[in-house]
Amino acid sequence: MGSIAVDARVLRQLVAVARAALPEECCGLLLGGMAGQGRRITALLPARNVATARTRAFAIDPAVLIAAQKAARGGGPAVLGAYHSHPGGDPTPSAADLAQARGAGAIWAIIACGVAGDAADSQAGWRIGWWCDADEGVTPLSLTGRGG
Ligand SMILES: [Zn+2]
Repeated sequence: MGSIAVDARVLRQLVAVARAALPEECCGLLLGGMAGQGRRITALLPARNVATARTRAFAIDPAVLIAAQKAARGGGPAVLGAYHSHPGGDPTPSAADLAQARGAGAIWAIIACGVAGDAADSQAGWRIGWWCDADEGVTPLSLTGRGG
């Protein structure tokens, strides 16, 4: 299994943006760079969910992706992947997610809360699944080097 490092602040922010978007899915980009042997996510770039059925789908505002890629070329953090949430679901890729896989090595974070309604209004119960959209398929990633 591959691994990545994620700043602790990013982990907290992912849950916060997923909660704030309820009952819709949130989405955005994962920014960072290389750290030692692997990749480290150091920041989120939230994006508008431009999907039609936002309670069960997501589509990242393409303007945000274009701006982030332009900033990366200008010396800013690299776009390492994307995140979205599964309200009331599991932190695993859905059939629709898998259909969007490109095999280019992007990191996916899926924030999920298996409970709905008022119970979701607590930090407990939220989980984040980390995946790599790799050549050989979408595979799970483990987290290393938490901190910051
Ligand atoms: Zn999904």
